[in-house]
Amino acid sequence: MPSNCTYVCFPCRTSASRSSRSAPVLCQHCGEEMTNMGKQFRVPRKSDKRGWENAKRILEERETTSHLREVRRRIEMSKYR
Ligand SMILES: [Zn+2]
Repeated sequence: MPSNCTYVCFPCRTSASRSSRSAPVLCQHCGEEMTNMGKQFRVPRKSDKRGWENAKRILEERETTSHLREVRRRIEMSKYR
């Protein structure tokens, strides 16, 4: 199993799958560095505004807790909101 992480660009709502050990991943659209969302992250549809806002909130929470298991639990919970 390849252990790729999902990288996203929030302004463009694009995603890419890369090895976590690779160099910074740049967005194909705007050229900014993309954000590593981990292995379990499911990318919202481009039109899913709420999904992207949710992802950003999860990311902000991850930065304060830096606890991946907690983030995964929150992702699971957000599905049933
Ligand atoms: Zn971009």
